[in-house]
Order: sequence, then C-alpha cells, then structure tokens
Amino acid sequence: MNNKLKEVYSPKNFQKVGYELVDLLTNYLQNSQNQETSVQTWKTPEEQLGFWKNYELNSESPIQLFEKVLENSMRLHHPHYIGHQVAVPAPLSALTGLMGELLNNGMAIYEMGPAASAIEKIVVDFMCQKAGFGEKGSGILTSGGSLANLTALLTARKVKAKNDVWEEGHQGQIGVMVSEEAHYCIDRAVRVMGLGTEGIIKVPADDNYKIRTDLLEVSYQKAKKEGIEIIALVGSAPSTSTGIYDDLDTLGDFAQTKNIWFHIDGAHGGAAICSEKYKHLLKGIEKADSITIDAHKMMMTPALTTFLLFRNGKNSYATFHQKAQYLWTEADAEEWFNYGKRTFECTKLMMSLRFYVLLQTYGESIFEELVNQLYNAGRIFADKIKAHPNMELAVEPDTNIVCFRYKLEGFSEEKLNKINLKIRQEILEKNEFYIVQTNLRGTHYLRTTFMNPFTTPEMMDKLIDKVVGIGKNMIAM
Ligand SMILES: *Cc1c(COP(=O)(O)O)cnc(C)c1O
Repeated sequence: MNNKLKEVYSPKNFQKVGYELVDLLTNYLQNSQNQETSVQTWKTPEEQLGFWKNYELNSESPIQLFEKVLENSMRLHHPHYIGHQVAVPAPLSALTGLMGELLNNGMAIYEMGPAASAIEKIVVDFMCQKAGFGEKGSGILTSGGSLANLTALLTARKVKAKNDVWEEGHQGQIGVMVSEEAHYCIDRAVRVMGLGTEGIIKVPADDNYKIRTDLLEVSYQKAKKEGIEIIALVGSAPSTSTGIYDDLDTLGDFAQTKNIWFHIDGAHGGAAICSEKYKHLLKGIEKADSITIDAHKMMMTPALTTFLLFRNGKNSYATFHQKAQYLWTEADAEEWFNYGKRTFECTKLMMSLRFYVLLQTYGESIFEELVNQLYNAGRIFADKIKAHPNMELAVEPDTNIVCFRYKLEGFSEEKLNKINLKIRQEILEKNEFYIVQTNLRGTHYLRTTFMNPFTTPEMMDKLIDKVVGIGKNMIAM
C-alpha cells in the first residue's frame, strides 16, 4: 500500500492533530468570550483571495492552516457578534458534528445510518409534539430552511394541485400566496418549481411588516379570476428582515376555508415553540400543514440542521414519490427509517446527532432558556434605541432581530440613508462589532440579531455610542 494513504488514515495522526485542534479551538472560545480578540479581522474579498492564493503550508502539521482560517473567519462566539441569524453553536454540538463527519454515514437508507436514522425520528417527533401536531405528525431533517421550504411546497403541490404535476408536468397555472416580506427563498422555490412570476402571489404587508390578512380574500379572488389555481399559503415566523411574525392563526383559518396548504416558514422563530414566554407568537401553529425550523439559527446546532415537520406525516411520503430500485425494494412502503424517500438529498449529514446530544445532555429547557435570553435582548436593545434622541426603531421588535437607524432632524431621507450605509461600513471595517443592514421600503436601516447569549446591555450601550459617534463625524465632514 502507498505510504501516503497510510498516513492519511493513521489513527495516531488523527489523535495528534485532533488534540492540537481542540486546544486551538478552546483558545478561540476563551479569547472570543473574554473579548480578547476582535469579532473579526476585516479584509476585502480581493485581499482575502490574495491571501489564500499565496498561502502555503510550510509545516507537517496543518495547525498553522487552521490558525489562519480562524484569523480570517467571523467569530460568532464573540459577544459583539450581533449580525446574521446564524446560531452560535454549542461546542458540544460542534464536537458531535465532528463525529458525524468522521463516521460519514450516508443516511439515505437505514443501513447507511442506523443510529442517526432512529435518532432523527426521535428528535423530529419531539419537535412535532412541541408544535402540537398530534399523533399523525412526523417529518424529516434537511439541509437548510431554503430546501425545507422548497420541499414543503413540493408536498403542497402533490397534495393540493388538481393534476399530478410530478407525473404529468404542469397543465395550468398554479400559485402560492405569501407576504411581500417573506424570505426570498420562497420566491425562489416557486420559480424553481416552474411556476414563474405569475405563480407567486405577493400579499402586501402593513406598517408593521405583517402580512395584511384583510387582503387575503381579494388577493385570492384576483388570482383565481386570472385562472391561477392557488395551492398554498405561506406564513413567516418571523419574516427575516424585520423579525415580525405574521398572524398565523388567521392565516391558518383562511387556508382551511379555501382548502389550500398552510406552510409556516419558522426557519428563525419556530424555535419559540419551546418558550412559555414567547410561544404565543406562534399561535395557530397547530393549523399548519407543514413548518420549517432551523436548529442552526435559534437552537444552537451548527449549520445546516433543519426540521421540516408535517401535521400529517403521510403527506411527506408523497413529495418525491419515485422508484429508486437500487436503494429500496418497496418504493410505495411508508418506511420512516429510509429517509431518502422523503428528502431532496440522497446522501445527507448525520445532523440528528447534533440536536439529540443537546437534548440528552442539557434537557429541553435549554432551548427555552436560549430563546428567552435572545428575544429579551432584542427588547432591551429596542428600549435603548427608543430612549436615544438620535436613534430610531424601524418597528417594535417581536424577536431578537432589531432594525434601527441613526437619525437627525433636518436631514433629508436620502442623506440619512447615505449616513447609515456609511456607519455600517465603518463598523464592519473596524472589527469591534458585527452588525448588518437592511433596506425597508426605501429606508436604510442598521440591523442587529442578538444570537450570542453573552451580549450584555453594557455592550449594547457601547454599540449605540459607536453608531452615534460615527454618525456625528460624518455630519461634521
Ligand atoms: C434564514 C431563513 C431562511 C433560509 O434558511 P437557510 O437555512 O439559510 O436556508 C428562510 N426563511 C426564513 C424566514 C429565514 O429566517
């Protein structure tokens, strides 16, 4: 045997690098939590590309390479990370991910992931029970909220459309109703399904960025008149830009009266079902036919780990109904343990482990604690913004997502947009905080998502000072 291959698979090498890597990551965690490093080290895309093009590992150990990766990556474990909605992964969940990657069980069929397949049923059933889906509830884990939403809409089409599009292709125009504030992946999913621009019926949102339920009927009737067969209604829980939940209860009732599929995109905030304090935001969830929940957002697992739950689990077997003889002998049998029958993926990561380890080790209350901590942080920050004379909230937050801007009387909207754009760019390049931005109806806002449970109110004050300081400088220029 080739010596190089022996080296690649050497248990001794694995152990050596493994220990070194764990030491390196332990330092990373400590330094980040104690704010001894910056939240990131900004480079432009071209600088970053140049760095890696010129990079050469001049050592037997890859640890130097790992150090450089760390140096050039966003540090989510730093409490000044208040940017996008990606989980600050629980270290234990990440370690479990390492195990999954080394074992690399393929998951499409039971034999290629016996433990992870059984565990997937347990964690999915746990979440179905939390959602109040009853006996018939079941579902799958899949690679991201975007794919989960597409999968749910494919199921909706299979179950609700008059003709069998899966077998016969489209014969008439089919449509999906959704808020204009929904995540872009819904629009994309509808187009991927071949429904085109006509297939996405955008319902306007109100001043608080919630879908206007008073316009559901008119939107529906207008589409119908145009010959569009509506198969589904999608609610956001919450919508991504503003973090505002749609009125799911009313959406659920509407979907029921029209006999259309009701899907909840709870990629970010579906996890609130675990919180006594915040689950009221999901009122009506039990009326949903399906719901997407990203564990890699509000449930502390590394990406990607997404639940797609069905109120009637039978429906999920219809989605990709197809013969794949080499994988399973009975294509028609509803075998919970052969997950490939119900997922878009064939090979899939052993993602169930990352969630199960948290449930087993810390108990389900840990998810409630996290949701409460982070949603509370959003409220605290919003109150600080409101109390400041030169700050303005875009909307009262429902969640840990807060949109706000620097504002001075006497400045045009155009000027304020420019100032806020520059504030965010300067914050990004200064490496002290990481926040993002969004444009809402032409107004440029700074956007924060409190994902790190160690972000304190004092740090929020510091961020506000920073924003105001940069804003003032800009005005002086
Ligand atoms: C994040 C998000 C998505 C996309 O999920 P991914 O896991 O990033 O694919 C979809 N919808 C909403 C509401 C989201 O917040």
